[in-house]
Amino acid sequence: MKAQDTLLYLDGVSVSFDGFRAINNLSLVLQAGEMRAIIGPNGAGKTTMMDIITGKTRPDCGEVNFNGEVDLTKHDEAEIALLGIGRKFQKPTVFESHTVEDNLVLALSGPRSAFSALFHRQSANEAERIEDILYTIRLNGKRDWLAANLSHGQKQWLEIGMLLAQDPKLLLVDEPVAGMTDAETAETAKLLREIAKTRSVLVVEHDMHFVRELDVKVTCLHEGSVLAEGSLDFVSNDQRVIEVYLGR
Ligand code: ADP
Repeated sequence: MKAQDTLLYLDGVSVSFDGFRAINNLSLVLQAGEMRAIIGPNGAGKTTMMDIITGKTRPDCGEVNFNGEVDLTKHDEAEIALLGIGRKFQKPTVFESHTVEDNLVLALSGPRSAFSALFHRQSANEAERIEDILYTIRLNGKRDWLAANLSHGQKQWLEIGMLLAQDPKLLLVDEPVAGMTDAETAETAKLLREIAKTRSVLVVEHDMHFVRELDVKVTCLHEGSVLAEGSLDFVSNDQRVIEVYLGR
């Protein structure tokens, strides 16, 4: 039975590749407005789970429900993006030869062509949204910079901003702080906490210092299933989690 404010609901989901079960009877419930950290050793199934949620991989069985009404297994990647699920991959993909602001304009324009988006007069509402996003991603002072001149961490923030421009209900973020400085990592935790005030976020992460700074419920995957779930302290003290991480 799904609770009223459940945004994402996975139940009994499995998928095999050439007979190998990458996801095995996986269940996960994410509430509207919740941020969750997904951890687990390499090969645990974290990427495959994200692929299933975003329609890149179709599960062999199980339920994948969004917003209490949409069966995500019946939709492709493009449709799922339009339903309000944004995904950020590990490597930042921004338009390097455009300014920070134009990157956001291009993302906001959605189906309009890139060319016409840049020459289209922004509505007051669009301009206000871009302004808000620039502050959220800590790049207000760099709006006229070419994206190519940003640091790696700032490019990650810009890409998060580009996803926000599409106003997703759920944001999937894959290892956002890999390669970031300590200061950028701490700022990213704050930034994601701010974002999670208005939407749900799933963060796949290896960096446990960062997960601690996120201060959210943690789900540890192993062999395609949930091994442990709860606070970081609870999960990291679970003997099975310790064994999986230490390879014992
Ligand atoms: P994680 O992201 O936690 O490191 P993955 O979801 O990438 O784990 O992978 C889970 C398991 O599924 C791994 O053993 C991986 O080798 C396997 N796997 C993932 N995608 C494929 C694929 N397309 N074909 C075959 N095996 C795959």
